[in-house]
Amino acid sequence: MNIITEMFNTIGIRDIIDITIIAIITYNVLKLIKGTRAEQLSKGILVILILTKLSEWFKLYTINWLLSNLMTWGFVAILVVFQPELRRGLEFIGRTSSIRNNMSSKNDVPEVVTELCDAVASLSRQKIGALIIIEKQTGLNEIVETGTRVDGIVSSGLLINIFIPNTPLHDGAVILKGDRVIAAACFLPLSDNENISKELGTRHRAGIGITERSDALALMVSEETGSISIAENGTISRYLDLPTLEKILQDIYSPKAEGSNSMFSRWRNFDEEVQDEISKK
Ligand code: ATP
Ligand code: MG
Repeated sequence: MNIITEMFNTIGIRDIIDITIIAIITYNVLKLIKGTRAEQLSKGILVILILTKLSEWFKLYTINWLLSNLMTWGFVAILVVFQPELRRGLEFIGRTSSIRNNMSSKNDVPEVVTELCDAVASLSRQKIGALIIIEKQTGLNEIVETGTRVDGIVSSGLLINIFIPNTPLHDGAVILKGDRVIAAACFLPLSDNENISKELGTRHRAGIGITERSDALALMVSEETGSISIAENGTISRYLDLPTLEKILQDIYSPKAEGSNSMFSRWRNFDEEVQDEISKK
């Protein structure tokens, strides 16, 4: 009893702040990794840690040596395997400016959204497959290098033209930066997420793949169904209607996106919706 009273007496305001911050960080990290491949990995690490401690207590030196070494090399392996996620996380922390830095001028903003929506609507109606990537803070130069440089103002006509089948630039992804089409026929990394619906082919996997490795937004129009999908942070939202698409694009291109809350909270909700959708399957 004495020990407990003593313990409470020694707890100061700093300890409370310390514990609260750690609790918040732990909660958010757990929420972030829930349902991802990092969740299984964390469970694996926990099991190895417990086994290491047990082998230490029971003086099983060889097993203890093996497990300790496994942890050291495992840490290096984690850095390699999770390099895209870690890069995205660090970039997110270091992000200071906003997408609007990519804009040529403020007046272009509504124009880009209208043109993009018109293009996507038309492509969807005609069932022309399309993959459009909107660059944000993460530079996509490596991706641009894989395609053909365009450097033209975004217009619905230009976008539709690019994706017309059997034309030289229709195959692959278009990269947008602010109000400009930077490149077309670009090759994107495919996602290897096993939770992605089997109905989705390489176009959608490529769109999801780039958003796992960057903060870009991917827009996909299906050639098979004409349906519109959007991906960000490695998650896809399918069967979008045009008003929703317009709202999402407007949020991205509008000055409000500069605030820390609008984009972040919206995509947090979006992530949750998508996770629900995946778990229902
Ligand atoms: P859809 O619903 O339009 O059929 P899908 O998800 O089923 O799309 P596929 O039918 O495999 O995908 O689409 C193939 C097209 O996707 C290719 O012709 C190409 O334009 C594009 N694509 C495939 N892989 C990549 C990639 N890695 N990077 C960029 N574009 C790609
Ligand atoms: Mg297909």
